[in-house]
Amino acid sequence: MNQPQSWEARAEEYSLYGFTDMPSVHQRGTVVVTHGEGPYVFDVHGRRYLDANSGLWNMVAGFDHRGLIEAAKAQYERFPGYHAFFGRMSDQTVMLSEKLVEVSPFASGKVFYTNSGSEANDTMVKMLWFLHRAEGKPQRRKILTRWNAYHGVTAVSASMTGKPYNEVFGLPLPGFIHLTCPHYWRFGEAGETEAQFVARLARELEDTIAREGADTIAGFFAEPVMGAGGVIPPARGYFQAIQPILRKHGIPLISDEVICGFGRTGQTWGCETYDFIPDAIISSKNLTAGFFPMGAVILGPDLAGRVEAAVEAIEEFPHGFTASGHPVGCAIALKAIDVVMNEGLAENVNRLAPRFEENLRRLAEKPNIGEYRGVGFMWALEAVRDKPTKTPFDATLSVSERIANTCTDLGLICRPLGQSVVLCPPFILTEAQMDEMFGKLEQALDKVF
Ligand code: PLP
Repeated sequence: MNQPQSWEARAEEYSLYGFTDMPSVHQRGTVVVTHGEGPYVFDVHGRRYLDANSGLWNMVAGFDHRGLIEAAKAQYERFPGYHAFFGRMSDQTVMLSEKLVEVSPFASGKVFYTNSGSEANDTMVKMLWFLHRAEGKPQRRKILTRWNAYHGVTAVSASMTGKPYNEVFGLPLPGFIHLTCPHYWRFGEAGETEAQFVARLARELEDTIAREGADTIAGFFAEPVMGAGGVIPPARGYFQAIQPILRKHGIPLISDEVICGFGRTGQTWGCETYDFIPDAIISSKNLTAGFFPMGAVILGPDLAGRVEAAVEAIEEFPHGFTASGHPVGCAIALKAIDVVMNEGLAENVNRLAPRFEENLRRLAEKPNIGEYRGVGFMWALEAVRDKPTKTPFDATLSVSERIANTCTDLGLICRPLGQSVVLCPPFILTEAQMDEMFGKLEQALDKVF
């Protein structure tokens, strides 16, 4: 093997990149990261970056939390790995399921484990298909989601994702139906109030169900706040308007809390922040504070009971992953839940959210910022070419990419998403680090515009 010299060249020579703007990589090189401290990461040249992306939304306790490292080490020494099948399950898995039901908004429930958020959504879809067949409704297979939603990358979860880039794979698969994104600022019509916008989306849902037939629909999936769609909180009253319609037609509402869960919105669940109780929750990312790849499907009482009955009827649920319920992942998740809920992380999010918003409000006064939006510790600034008409920049200009690249040069990692720049720092961020984040972002905005 003829090894190139630099880390950057070696990265490009032997690795395929996902979700990466390749012209930027070719021009700027890869940031090869070696370690982290608190909310900072360091590259091979010793440069320090404040990671306002929390890794990928998930490193909520920072990159070197001692308690999480010790929990992982202790469990690796005690019992390094196991599955959760064939009538065997680790003690850590038993304890985590109890904990997840305890902290869920459900009075009772059941948990199934995966290695990622995509697999958890995929699992939920298969579970719904399995359930409806078992209940004598095999035609209940269609999945409702929204444009701009992000639910993952497996063939099923990518089909649920409402992003045009999935066309390159010939996705979505048939039977995945995308409804209007509940982003009032962008999709509200001229003269339409927020309440009228929500009523229009509710009518669209009713019409879609009528057109497709309620007895062909397996479930409705929604992120409480759309994350990878560009941090889009729902229009006011959205979930209160759609949930009764779904209930009337017996369509389960699944809350994809892969980003929102465990404190990102300031409460344990995004559905709490937006005041609805779903039929099931999808969790990942923050579940282990990013210290282990793991996902979970948490069924509320109704689905738990029905799925259990369906499993009993055929004696087995034929689904799962080699590392489902991995004891190290479970031990870390137990610790992560404790850290987020009992070490003041959730409080820090709530304490600093107003300061976060105040800084964004100030930056949004700039002529090329159309909107700031978000909640808790997940926010976005959306760039526009013309503020009064909200006209976006030409997509090929990649304005958000340029802002994010300039931030990287200044030692701040943030995420370009469409025309928006997203900030979702670890929950341990201090006031001084928040000021550093906004200082660098402002410098970048002033350089780009
Ligand atoms: N669901 C949501 C809301 C997400 O944001 C993501 C990832 O960002 C996923 C699902 C997929 O999770 P993973 O990347 O772990 O497969």
